Amino acid sequence: MNTGAHRSGRHFLQIPGPTNLPDRIMRAMSRPLIDHRGPEFVEFTRSLLRRLRRVFKATGSIVVYPASGTGAWEAALVNTLSPKDRVLAFETGHFATLWKNVAVALGLEVDWVTGDWRHGVDPAAVEEKLSQDRQHRIKAVLVVHNETSIGATSQIAEIRKAIDLAHHPALFFVDSISSLGCTDYRHDDWGVDVTICGSQKGLMLPPGLSFNAISVKALEAAETARLAKSYWDWRPLLDSIEQGFFPYTPATSLLFGLDEALDMLLGEGLDQVFARHARWAEATRRAVGAWGLENLCANRQEYSNSTTAVLVPEGQNADTLREIIRKRFDMSLGTGLGRLKGKVFRIGHLGDFNDLSLAGTLSGIEMGLSLAGVAHEKAGVRAALDFLEIET
Ligand SMILES: *Cc1c(COP(=O)(O)O)cnc(C)c1O
Repeated sequence: MNTGAHRSGRHFLQIPGPTNLPDRIMRAMSRPLIDHRGPEFVEFTRSLLRRLRRVFKATGSIVVYPASGTGAWEAALVNTLSPKDRVLAFETGHFATLWKNVAVALGLEVDWVTGDWRHGVDPAAVEEKLSQDRQHRIKAVLVVHNETSIGATSQIAEIRKAIDLAHHPALFFVDSISSLGCTDYRHDDWGVDVTICGSQKGLMLPPGLSFNAISVKALEAAETARLAKSYWDWRPLLDSIEQGFFPYTPATSLLFGLDEALDMLLGEGLDQVFARHARWAEATRRAVGAWGLENLCANRQEYSNSTTAVLVPEGQNADTLREIIRKRFDMSLGTGLGRLKGKVFRIGHLGDFNDLSLAGTLSGIEMGLSLAGVAHEKAGVRAALDFLEIET
């Protein structure tokens, strides 16, 4: 790709995914390919699955698709549900809306709880909806754990409790694409039936891999599910993955990267990984507050460890600001998605990142705010540094 004149230094890719690729992962992916049906592959696949289970905190089955996260959304639905089945879904933002659209396209009936794109899923609303469904027509509840478009993290343990309080048998599906490897996530403990994930956020990989972690209850549902499927069918994948193979050619290079990413995350320790994400998120919010700007997420309990969406004042265009920052400082920030276009910019603070990457990111934003003429106090970077200096 000829992008014109060389720019020195590294591009700051501060969108909430794909995230910055660690050198270790890039090197791992440049290994020569191996025979995916050869003996070496068996132990390789098994070791990936063993470590994936630790990261998902899941003891059951996990499948890996050479697909973006959207494919894993579809896989969760087609493997467990039948035409015209009802599912309950919540409008937390752009990604929840896209997942709902997949369900509609597959011929499912979606009970869609509208939202203001500033909050996660309200557990009380889950309990109320399910309690009203006395016939148990709702077969699955769909929740996006970290709604990346608004920077809000729903309380999955609380939502599980709400399902249980309603004594409802629905399956529970959670999109953990931008939370796994950033925020604590517990597939087993939280009674999640299918966890959907993708490679390009907290797992620090390029886009192109996605995952379903599957409960026993979901496997049982799969036996009678009648939605059409072929490529997404869990059965052939599970049969061969447990043997150490894939039923088709896997994305070998991405799996090499995954191997390295799992070593990095588990070597550092998941609790440490979550703690550093929480710390950068807090420093970012302090900067936003000191600039005098508003965090889009309206519930502090739901503040995201992965990404912060910042509202620009009325009359300003967030994309103009982003463009100025991209041109002047070689940094990409996340755009406002869907109905938030032009109204917010999003700061990705997840993945392969450190204090100085955050300091650089916030500095670029503060200078950009001046250049774009967005009214603000020049105090955000200082507030973030004060926090980073003291809190370890
Ligand atoms: C990034 C993201 C997706 C996107 O899936 P892709 O198909 O890989 O683009 C879905 N859900 C959430 C919550 C995300 O953050």
